[in-house]
Amino acid sequence: MDQKATYRTSVRRSTVQVGGSPSNMYRPEYQVEQFGLQASPRDTSKIWELMDSYQGSDKLALQQSIVHHVEYTLARTRFDFSKFHSYQALSHSVRDRLIEAFNDTNLHFHQMDAKRIYYLSLEFLIGRCLQNALVNLDLEDDYREALMDLGYKLEELYDEEVDPALGNGGLGRLAACFLDSLATLNYPSFGYGIRYTYGIFKQLIKDGYQVESPDFWLNHGNPWEIERLDVQYQIRFYGFVKKVWDHGVERSVWEGGETIMARAYDTPIPGYNTQNTIALRLWKSHPASEFDFSSFNTGDYFKALEQRQKAEYITSVLYPNDSTEAGKELRLKQQYLLVSASMQDIVRRFKRRKVLDWNAFPQKVAVQLNDTHPALAIVELLRILIDIEQLDNMSAWQIVTKSFNYTNHTVLPEALEKWGVPLIEKLLPRHLEIIYLINFLFLEKVQQKYPNNWGKLSALSIVEEEGTKKVRMANLSIVGSKFVNGVAKIHTELLKTTIFKEFFEMHPNKFQNKTNGVTPRRWVRCANPALAALYDRVLGSDKWVLDMELLKQLESNVSDPQFVRDFQMIKMENKERFVHWIRKTCQVDLNIDSLFDIQVKRIHEYKRQLMNILYVIYRYLIIKESTPEERKRIVPRSVCFGGKAAPGYVNAKRVIKLINSVADVINNDHQIGDLLKVVFMPNYNVSNAQIIIPAAEISQHISTAGTEASGTSNMKFIMNGCLILGTLDGANVEIDEAVGRENIFIFGTQVEDVDNMKEKMRNTDPHEYFPQELLKVFGEIDNGRFGHNEELKWIVDSIRYKNDNYLVGQDFKDYIKAQQQVDDLYRQPNEWAKKSIYNAIRSYKFSSDRTIMEYAEEIWQLKPIKVPGPATQKHERVKGVALSKSQQEMAEKIKH
Ligand SMILES: *Cc1c(COP(=O)(O)O)cnc(C)c1O
Repeated sequence: MDQKATYRTSVRRSTVQVGGSPSNMYRPEYQVEQFGLQASPRDTSKIWELMDSYQGSDKLALQQSIVHHVEYTLARTRFDFSKFHSYQALSHSVRDRLIEAFNDTNLHFHQMDAKRIYYLSLEFLIGRCLQNALVNLDLEDDYREALMDLGYKLEELYDEEVDPALGNGGLGRLAACFLDSLATLNYPSFGYGIRYTYGIFKQLIKDGYQVESPDFWLNHGNPWEIERLDVQYQIRFYGFVKKVWDHGVERSVWEGGETIMARAYDTPIPGYNTQNTIALRLWKSHPASEFDFSSFNTGDYFKALEQRQKAEYITSVLYPNDSTEAGKELRLKQQYLLVSASMQDIVRRFKRRKVLDWNAFPQKVAVQLNDTHPALAIVELLRILIDIEQLDNMSAWQIVTKSFNYTNHTVLPEALEKWGVPLIEKLLPRHLEIIYLINFLFLEKVQQKYPNNWGKLSALSIVEEEGTKKVRMANLSIVGSKFVNGVAKIHTELLKTTIFKEFFEMHPNKFQNKTNGVTPRRWVRCANPALAALYDRVLGSDKWVLDMELLKQLESNVSDPQFVRDFQMIKMENKERFVHWIRKTCQVDLNIDSLFDIQVKRIHEYKRQLMNILYVIYRYLIIKESTPEERKRIVPRSVCFGGKAAPGYVNAKRVIKLINSVADVINNDHQIGDLLKVVFMPNYNVSNAQIIIPAAEISQHISTAGTEASGTSNMKFIMNGCLILGTLDGANVEIDEAVGRENIFIFGTQVEDVDNMKEKMRNTDPHEYFPQELLKVFGEIDNGRFGHNEELKWIVDSIRYKNDNYLVGQDFKDYIKAQQQVDDLYRQPNEWAKKSIYNAIRSYKFSSDRTIMEYAEEIWQLKPIKVPGPATQKHERVKGVALSKSQQEMAEKIKH
């Protein structure tokens, strides 16, 4: 038996047994639907014996497995075989290998009776899977070689994959980075989310306007998911609560209404260089399994079928709002479907243990709420414990408050989620009762601590009493959680002193900071293979991928001219890749020697894309007015924007129109040439980000101080050696500390002065408040230089008349100054390169591995459990010693 098989046998035939309780122990509500074979006493050892070996990873084995899928999975012949089919066959071959590790992991965690962390999120913006899986399994080189022989280039097949975009922006991407770190660090964990049929809309630009088109990402199937027909749970909506007496105790029974089913789809998430492979379990809605015979009997067969079809609608589309809530009934249904299915699944897994001891629940289960969107999970677990498991209220409450934790993502008041009491009462009548129960227990405590302090009571209450009564989901989340965290130092401090001040005073130890991070696997190793190869070569191994702090060792290399040149060359290569992509997608030719200046993120007033484009106009006017002598000194710039606006967000959509109108004029002005180019890159998503970010030289993170909770793209950019032009907001504050003020461009009003400046803005005449430079720009927009379009004027008006809530006018002059410093440094390529290297090698704090270790130790009390397995130990292998041909050419170019 080879070594791999030995590992497998040890996992597969382990004699450690936990639970396996008889199925009649489950109550019907969260009994998994049983299809197919029931476990029986027959001897199945032969089955497991045959499963003892893993699929091979030598060239021939890989080729055979690809070809096997061409014939047997895709049923293709040579007459109808395309590049896309080749991608599909390859994916299925990789999927087989993922599933081996996935099954081992599930079995091992079960046998070890592991405590698990469950990450609940309405969004997971995972991006493409193929390259990430190959890199994490350490099979990229092997597959590349195997494919080369078959006549395919691996990198070309990467582009055949759809980008699953089941998230809006930072919040969803954070959840995806966290899963990568959880798997890599061997933490027993699950992600729970929704399998939307339509992800975030595809953004098209027509006549400069954003046009939304549906993203039906499942068009060609999805090889990365495993449909679990045997894992589905009943979900109820509407109906009524019946009170019954049972042995002298009043019990609540929720009945009637509609029921549907939630079915599980698992996406295996492989860790890097480990056998551990965790599940992202996404739920899809289906019609209930029983028929409603009464409608059939009344003869309306088609109406009855139509009714059933409606169930599918619930998980059909992701709401495209980033940090605002629309308060729609369908959205509440999505939230409840996610939390009900997930909590039923978690309780079922807990009940599989040998002895049923509810007090052990918090020792085996930690739930993390990604914002308040899944906050109803708190109420749902209470309902299961009280109504179904028949625990008493107080015991149930103790268990719940030891198991849940809540991450806040925003201090913007319009983003704090609230649901009208009448809607909750209609849709989830029993949950509303439980919310009132929680609030009653909590407000009793408040009353004890602050007797008759009505101000405190109304600020802390879960139910907002003014106007139509509303449930404040943040208050519910805080009251129901053990720990509450913000996502950057400055953000957590703001939580404690502003929106959650009263909670902080009452429970100071509940509040923690967990500064966000991003995974270096996707954002360096996959997105920037040339930089990764440089690190491998200079450090002698790829260990830095697991421990970014090792990059510290490169500090001394900054004085090595060869190292600096290598670094510059890699940036050039990535810029070239980007120029090709821009030519293809935007039909604009960029000058590779210009400064690549990038702002990509959701379009939002607080993120101030408006300030950026107004500055571009200012820069354009300067160039137009300059003498030939002056022109020689101007640093050529390519300013690239990308990001989606929520479809109903009028001001954000107008900013896109303004950017495109300005681009039209500047890019077609022959006097300007290469000195300035403006591009709006349509449909910003994870796969585009992987091309854009490694090519960036300046990236802008310029939100008004106190508005961006953390930001995560700032972290991706510095990891790729890009300098930040930014405000002291969110994680920029900590990036500034980590890289040093001499290696970042910081400007603008600081958080402690924002209120004063807003006051000043409101009390000052616009002509005095806005600097001359900006008034001049307004004038050019007014006079139609960028098109006679009323909408362009309206954007200016939105800040012009005492409504500059995000302080564009206040910060503009300082912004111009910072931009000049950027230009000055760019004239010294060597200095520029050194600073960008410092950004890259001092970025280790912003690895999501650091973040996840902090969560595990300080919030979840979770220990890693490594699944025994043949995880390829190729650490010491030094990769990419020789320069590629294109690298050699680039080296020549830079020398001249
Ligand atoms: C990282 C990321 C974001 C978050 O960007 P911020 O600048 O931090 O708001 C949004 N969208 C995508 C596709 C990302 O990869």
